[in-house]
Amino acid sequence: MFNINYKTILYFSIIVIISMIILTAIGNHKHPQQRINNNIETYTNHVEAETKHMDKNYTIKDVIPVINFATRDEIFNTMITHPYFDRMTSLDIVARKMQNATHLKKQYMNDMKELTDADKETIKSIIRQLMEERPNMLLFLTKSLQLAKFAKTSPQVEYGLPHTHGNIIFMPFIVDNELTADIIIHELTHVFQRNYGAEFDKLYARWGFEKAKYIDNFKTIKNAERNNPDANGDIYIWRDDSTQKYYWIGALYISPEPANIKDIGYYAVEVYRIGDGIFKSAEGATKHQKHPLETFEPYINFFNLYNNHYHPNEISAEYMTISNNGKKIQGSPAYKIYKNFFEALMHSIFPSQSENLKESNYL
Ligand SMILES: [Zn+2]
Repeated sequence: MFNINYKTILYFSIIVIISMIILTAIGNHKHPQQRINNNIETYTNHVEAETKHMDKNYTIKDVIPVINFATRDEIFNTMITHPYFDRMTSLDIVARKMQNATHLKKQYMNDMKELTDADKETIKSIIRQLMEERPNMLLFLTKSLQLAKFAKTSPQVEYGLPHTHGNIIFMPFIVDNELTADIIIHELTHVFQRNYGAEFDKLYARWGFEKAKYIDNFKTIKNAERNNPDANGDIYIWRDDSTQKYYWIGALYISPEPANIKDIGYYAVEVYRIGDGIFKSAEGATKHQKHPLETFEPYINFFNLYNNHYHPNEISAEYMTISNNGKKIQGSPAYKIYKNFFEALMHSIFPSQSENLKESNYL
């Protein structure tokens, strides 16, 4: 028979109290992450379900975005069948100091690094700061961070340049203070472009770009073109509205033995249309007049950019970074078109947020 006395009750009470303390501690430990997830989920549900009652002066202070990190399997699955390596020319291989595309692919995978806790914290703190200081970027960040996953490479990969494949952002450096908000915004834009490809195609068409199926007499140019992971392998032709002339736009190696992938120049090369999506070099198969983009007036007048402007994906990523910094490009018809496009796209993704969008720098 169980004989209840005061000592038993006292011991029992102590055990119960200690258990409660332990359970509370475990609960508290899990609590912050749960809270963050609930917050971001509630927030995105709010904006996507077009909740009418949402506070328009909603503060982002309590919302910490869910930031995704790619696993090795996800990287492998993205890269194993990726056409990027098949697009490598012999100059691309030389510039990357490899023997062939298979060698390059193998080395690329070997150069994948684990993100440390410090790396992850660096990425998170930059994004947290962005969301606090740039409320105009909140909607873009919310959506693009849902799509993107971060990964780390050794500094040898792509000459240390941050880049993307699919939804994965590959960055060679994280904690050595080289990672900036501008880089994150730029790379997130590339992921965003892939997920809203049809919409971005419309923007590019309004800028005068069209995708060519084929350019005749153009082998020497195509063989000298640098392969860009953020460009998806499309051939873009730009139409100068003032003259109705057509130009291939891109980055070309400037040496027959490029020292690295930055050994390039940005150029416009004139072509003319010979069919639906089919063009021909204006000056024969081997002789091409290459206009450096930096001094190519009609292009500069239209885009008002002087760097990283050799592809519509790069132009829109540059514009996104400029918007993020609260700067504006004056007198550029292309930037005006971009702002209107981006505002309309954000409206279509987040229909309940019209008021917040009005206050943004996109307008
Ligand atoms: Zn880029």
